[in-house]
Amino acid sequence: MKRLAIVVPCYNEQEVMENTAIRLTDLMADLIQKKKISADSYILFVDDGSTDGTWELMNEAFEKDPHVCALGLAGNSGQQNALMAGFAAVADNCDMAVSIDADLQDDIDVMEEMIDKYYEGADVIYGVRNDRKTDTFFKRFSAQMFYTLMKLLGAKTVSNHADYRLMSSDVLRQLMRYGERNLFVRGVVPLMGYQSRTVYYARKKRAAGKSKYSLSKMFSTAFEAITSFSIKPISLIVMTGAAITVCALAALVLLLGCSVCGRSISDGKYILTSVWLLGGMQLAAVGVVGEYAGRTYFETKRRPRYRIERILSRDQIPTDGEESSMQGKK
Ligand code: UDP
Ligand code: MG
Repeated sequence: MKRLAIVVPCYNEQEVMENTAIRLTDLMADLIQKKKISADSYILFVDDGSTDGTWELMNEAFEKDPHVCALGLAGNSGQQNALMAGFAAVADNCDMAVSIDADLQDDIDVMEEMIDKYYEGADVIYGVRNDRKTDTFFKRFSAQMFYTLMKLLGAKTVSNHADYRLMSSDVLRQLMRYGERNLFVRGVVPLMGYQSRTVYYARKKRAAGKSKYSLSKMFSTAFEAITSFSIKPISLIVMTGAAITVCALAALVLLLGCSVCGRSISDGKYILTSVWLLGGMQLAAVGVVGEYAGRTYFETKRRPRYRIERILSRDQIPTDGEESSMQGKK
């Protein structure tokens, strides 16, 4: 029997914490009883710098159930980094790990199916939402746009899959070798080329509380994902630039032709055409190049993604968290 770790990133989730802890510990007890996972399996809550009572509720859950442990990050590092903190802590302390959102919008009952597929030999099992009726039209529309754009730009992502996924410890250790700061886990996992399977479920409504993804957070995550996985925007700019140049040249030839035929063309027209087109082109191109250069600059700093401030553990995860939180861990 293999050891399972369930990793749950939580940011200001006091409304759902108690219920989530109960449902996950019940599920774990059930899986242990069915002999699907070993008795030392555990749930790791990662507090992503919550400012409400989330950490206190994690403490309560830790006191109540021996399968619960938790770690708290010093500030709000974002869901992807909170996940990475959790994965770093469990990578060497489990055989497989499932990541799931704290609001349990993803169906925890398909976890058993994920585990079955893991035993059948898959290293990655994606949870895919085949029904998003509970999401708002805007959320569905923006998500669809995002997946389509990612596909067009050549990044491999699994449509309608968020961060509900099972990964073997092998995958987790491999993931730790990705040293980049802006890691979009969802985009990296398919790139690693492990044998993968899929389980389907209907996405539920948030149990309580509000989405922690504001519009700006959603856009910045999408922008980060796109720019960190594709440099096609640069080629798009180059192509646009080339097209504009051709048009500008054509306009200039036209203007010259007209003046050869004896029609008077003011200098202003020439100057305006060239200045506007060239100015716009350069500004856009420089902007995009700057975006990538900026990212390179941040990557070269190799700052730690997060700092672990506190840990609750009964030997499930090491308590010298600071070291294991650093990237580059094998
Ligand atoms: N989350 C996090 N840090 C953040 C934002 C969100 O750890 O800065 C967690 C949040 O607590 C939840 C998960 O990421 O467990 C997904 O967030 P949410 O459910 O609000 O997103 P949505 O389902 O609306 O896309
Ligand atoms: Mg949610």
